[in-house]
Amino acid sequence: MRYSGFKVLTEGFSGNRGWTRAWREPEPKAEYDIVIIGGGGHGLSTAYYLARNHGLRNIAVLEKGYLGGGNVGRNTTIVRANYFLPGNQEFYSHSLKLWEGLEAELNYNVMHSQRGLINLFHSDGQRDAFARRGNAMISQGDDAELLDRAAVRRLLPYLDFDNARFPVQGGLLHRRGGTARHDAVAWGYARGADRLGVDLIQNCEVTGIDTAGGRVTGVQTTRGAIRARKVGIVVAGRSGQVAAMAGMRLPVESHVLQAFVTEGLKPAIDHVISFGMGHFYISQSDKGGLVFGGDLDFYASYAARGNLPMVEHVMEAGMTLMPMIGRARVLRSWGGIMDMTPDGSPIIDRTPVEGLFIDCGWNYGGFKAVPASGWCMAHLMATGEPHEVARRFRLDRFATGHLLDEEGTGSQHNLH
Ligand SMILES: Cc1cc2nc3c(=O)[nH]c(=O)nc-3n(C[C@H](O)[C@H](O)[C@H](O)COP(=O)(O)OP(=O)(O)OC[C@H]3O[C@@H](n4cnc5c(N)ncnc54)[C@H](O)[C@@H]3O)c2cc1C
Repeated sequence: MRYSGFKVLTEGFSGNRGWTRAWREPEPKAEYDIVIIGGGGHGLSTAYYLARNHGLRNIAVLEKGYLGGGNVGRNTTIVRANYFLPGNQEFYSHSLKLWEGLEAELNYNVMHSQRGLINLFHSDGQRDAFARRGNAMISQGDDAELLDRAAVRRLLPYLDFDNARFPVQGGLLHRRGGTARHDAVAWGYARGADRLGVDLIQNCEVTGIDTAGGRVTGVQTTRGAIRARKVGIVVAGRSGQVAAMAGMRLPVESHVLQAFVTEGLKPAIDHVISFGMGHFYISQSDKGGLVFGGDLDFYASYAARGNLPMVEHVMEAGMTLMPMIGRARVLRSWGGIMDMTPDGSPIIDRTPVEGLFIDCGWNYGGFKAVPASGWCMAHLMATGEPHEVARRFRLDRFATGHLLDEEGTGSQHNLH
């Protein structure tokens, strides 16, 4: 079924009885050409582009819980292309372009809103670093504008500009940056993949990876064994555990990241604001809640919930930047498991096991990467060659030393 304004209208007149399920609920088959482990944003987009770009059909996505129950449905939804290093730049630029056509592509309202992202700076050194970043973004073909203090004040009059520790001196505005509705992205890709014949199998945990003679032959699951010629590990925070099933030890640590949302308020914050010095960022959802977060909880964990010291830290940073936020009541907080690499950049690559591929290491920025990650992982799995915009996301860079040190911190939380 195609969704459209006309369909909404006709269904409204006929009692909304004509809507069909967004995707099927198939039983797992004994064998597939390709199995994708993980029904998050990256797994679903990989399956979608395998079918859409490469004409492959005999594909299953195996999800241990429900589709979109992982980080793709837990993140704070910032979408941007403001990376500095070659390797990351072209990848995220490609991703943003895919975002810009995603709703038409998927025939699904993912509520992509290019409301503009402002990264604040608080010192001359930070201004220079943002100026360099802005130039890099423009050279890549994306947009960036350096704002002085008065220009930031015009856009964000509610900030405390003169807070004694980090007075706001200006910001880098990325107008095409913004937000999207996180779970709609998972549902949109799920529906798109299902329509192209991909089997989406929920409540199906992969418990083992079968190999023979150095090749992958299938997976063991809680719903039985499934044979496959190719397998993709796309499980974000669980990457270390699933890769261990194939005897691999990844350069990835799993950490908790928390997010918070307040009660619904009238429109107050028009942009996404990032306050790096305080480790705080914020936007306002379409329902009116202020959505914000900060740094990782400072320990490795597989628990999708956080602890109180980081809650206090985030609230303090919010109060420092915009004291008015103290009037809003926080309704909910939650956590997700982040797959942190030492250099803060991702991995999309083959593995030493023939036919086994991996897509992981998204740190706390993998939501914006969902379209390009799926696009590039599908390219790699279908052709055996890395896509040109993901060529540097190699697994062996941690052995060769060809790091993509965008953050300079990665999983080293003491450096955050
Ligand atoms: C609080 C928070 C805020 C964030 N904010 C942003 C942001 O503003 N912008 C941004 O770009 N990124 C953000 N991120 C990061 C982003 O959400 C993640 O990098 C991205 O969603 C990870 O990829 P995914 O969607 O495929 O992961 P997930 O949705 O976690 O998908 C992985 C799936 O694999 C499944 N799985 C695991 N093990 C198995 C198994 N053995 N068998 C079968 N299935 C398995 C899991 O159940 C899960 O559904 C944030 C993350 C969090 C937690």
